[in-house]
Amino acid sequence: DSKKYSGIDEDCCCDYETVDSVNAEVLHPLLQEIVKTPFFRYFKAKLWCDCPFWTEDGMCLLRDCSVCECPENEFPEPFKRPFHGGLPSDTLVCQDDKLQGSVDRTLDGRAFRGWIETDNPWTNDDETDNDEMTYVNLLLNPERYTGYTGPSARRIWDAVYSENCPKYSSQDICQEQRVLYKLISGLHSSISIHIAADYLLDKITNLWGQNMELMHDRVLKYPDRVQNLYFAFLFVLRAVTKAADYLEQAEYDTGNHEEDLRTESLMRQLLYNPKLQAACPLPFDEAKLWKGRSGPQLKQQIQKKFRNISALMDCVGCEKCRLWGKLQVLGIGTALKILFSVDGKNHQDQPLQLQRNEVIALVNLLNRLSESVKYACQSGHSIKKVAEGG
Ligand code: FAD
Repeated sequence: DSKKYSGIDEDCCCDYETVDSVNAEVLHPLLQEIVKTPFFRYFKAKLWCDCPFWTEDGMCLLRDCSVCECPENEFPEPFKRPFHGGLPSDTLVCQDDKLQGSVDRTLDGRAFRGWIETDNPWTNDDETDNDEMTYVNLLLNPERYTGYTGPSARRIWDAVYSENCPKYSSQDICQEQRVLYKLISGLHSSISIHIAADYLLDKITNLWGQNMELMHDRVLKYPDRVQNLYFAFLFVLRAVTKAADYLEQAEYDTGNHEEDLRTESLMRQLLYNPKLQAACPLPFDEAKLWKGRSGPQLKQQIQKKFRNISALMDCVGCEKCRLWGKLQVLGIGTALKILFSVDGKNHQDQPLQLQRNEVIALVNLLNRLSESVKYACQSGHSIKKVAEGG
């Protein structure tokens, strides 16, 4: 029965083969270009450990991940107050390459001009608090193996799953809670795939490469983890295409006219892609959710849970992992905001408003998921094998 393994969501929307081919042909190549543009490569984040849940032990053991606090006077004023003041100087580099897993904070405030400041109701960080934020060049900090493992990492994932979105047995939790679980599990799959795809194979010779065994053991051999990865990808894709008109009109000006025109053109190709629209017109059907009478309370409940998950990112003991954890959680939070807040009861009259950092997180998250889907597709994941009778 092909339906058994072809449906990524229970009764929606595209099958694995379609997703794989539209990703390989259209989405992955486009997204790889988009995330390199000046607008999309800088992310603003509050990076120091400020864990609200655990004060003692382990949490920040990997302090060597957290490097080079730029002194306050090194930050040009316009970076902090994007609406006042002129252009900042070109770039300011603040880094320490010697430290394993260090975060390079290359600054370019031009990517942060001219957008509104608005907080995301789904996340814990106050996105408008510029004093707390540092700027990171994502291209210099790829998500990959960092050596962050053991009880500290395990405690975070345990807390995420057990306190906030326990693995469901399908009868006793509602569809909305299942969505939250699948998004988190899909993100977890994607993080694990990136760890395995860029792994420290030999510490002595500092040899990096793919660890396919690890990718298989952590993700690909589990059909549900693969399925949740595809689910998360389609969910975020739906949010991006739903916000197409907003994102098309958005301001991608970073002061580099040629590059900015290219960013706009790439975004248009992503947002109104005829191949994508033909292959997968509705990647996720959000209209099915929050239907019951308890819809509004349920939404609040789930928003609170997601905010807790977002707060847990401050407990991630390795700075680079925290950076990508925060970015991707903000990306999911932005997808949730697009799909559920705008047309929702509480915000009926409010048009969609996104902060540039939300857009940067959303698109970089989509790229991460797209990369993971490509790895999963290439390596012949468990669902494919079942389908092929393997
Ligand atoms: P873990 O990945 O820690 O998983 C813990 C348990 O969760 C598993 O035993 C399993 O029961 C369950 N589980 C695993 N995958 C799934 C899934 N997809 N769906 C549902 N349940 C699942 N390490 C790095 O090297 N680089 C990084 O960039 C990085 N980023 C991180 C970001 C965050 C937010 C966190 C919390 C951790 C990060 N880590 C990173 C650590 C990494 O995720 C692992 O925790 C670590 O590599 C140890 O892996 P593990 O094999 O013990 O299993």
